[in-house]
Amino acid sequence: MKIGEIFKNKSTVISFEVFPPNKNYSIDHIYGTIDELSALEPDFISVTYGAGGSTRGRTSQIASRIKNTNGIEALAHLTCLGASKEEIDSILKELKDSNVKNILALRGDYPKDGTILKDGDFSYASDLVKYIKQDSSFSVGAACYPEGHQDNNDLLDLFHLKNKIDTGSDFLISQIFFDNECFYRFKEKAEKLKMDVPISAGIIPVTDARQIRRITSLCGCSIPKKFQKILDRYEDKPEALKEAGTAYAIEQIIDLISSDVHGVHLYTMNKVEIAKKIIEGISSIRKTFQEAAND
Ligand code: FAD
Repeated sequence: MKIGEIFKNKSTVISFEVFPPNKNYSIDHIYGTIDELSALEPDFISVTYGAGGSTRGRTSQIASRIKNTNGIEALAHLTCLGASKEEIDSILKELKDSNVKNILALRGDYPKDGTILKDGDFSYASDLVKYIKQDSSFSVGAACYPEGHQDNNDLLDLFHLKNKIDTGSDFLISQIFFDNECFYRFKEKAEKLKMDVPISAGIIPVTDARQIRRITSLCGCSIPKKFQKILDRYEDKPEALKEAGTAYAIEQIIDLISSDVHGVHLYTMNKVEIAKKIIEGISSIRKTFQEAAND
């Protein structure tokens, strides 16, 4: 089923994100993780795409495995910076041949190590959305940024986000955030601007303080006091940090679901145990909206 349809049929959509193992590891490395994540019955699992296409084949292969072996809808991320139409066509063909019908269309980032990207046929994610949407067999999602995208101010970014919807995005998945109020303010603005597509909230459970500081400094998301205290107190106590970080994510998710957000997208970082704890932590709540969907 296309993800756009899943959002139409369900009041709350729970999804996971995984990333392909790097080239030093066999691709099989991730399959055990995916089998265990699938057992948690997410509505879909997304697979990231390495910067500049570095995991190109792996993203399609893993998405195909999720769809055809695990029987879970797969969302393949795809970036377009530096890509030609021919390269994108060949990935679309690969995905179509393996019955993967969902793509998260992204621009990608300019390399930070000074590598110059070759000229491509696309400048922004909206160009890619429009290009993919010429083929109606795909449901296309795009990224959104509750606290704005680092290259722009909030207003301009909202304007460009509207363009991604006008060119055909069926749903949005948000950048991570730790302060739900930021997400609610963003959602309200999006609704006022008639961005009439489902928005899934991106949640990352904190299990490694240094990694989170790196991620937040890259994406510019704010750290509320309550969360900062957890980072400061348990930075060097990994087990305590895992416990506190998981509890914080569960609290965020319960608040989001109770506030009628349409989807929660869990950045699992390929950590099954944490994903399991989070899903267990919302199991009765999840039953309530699963039952409502079956009525
Ligand atoms: P765009 O929507 O193109 O926006 C990029 C910037 O350009 C924004 O500041 C926007 O305001 C501006 N802009 C847009 N259109 C125009 C225009 N016409 N004129 C001028 N400015 C414009 N990266 C990866 O490499 N692989 C992944 O798998 C991946 N997955 C992601 C998943 C999610 C949910 C998110 C939130 C991000 C992901 N990223 C991934 C990171 C993403 O590639 C970067 O955040 C990138 O900087 C922006 O991508 P975008 O698709 O949002 O770009």
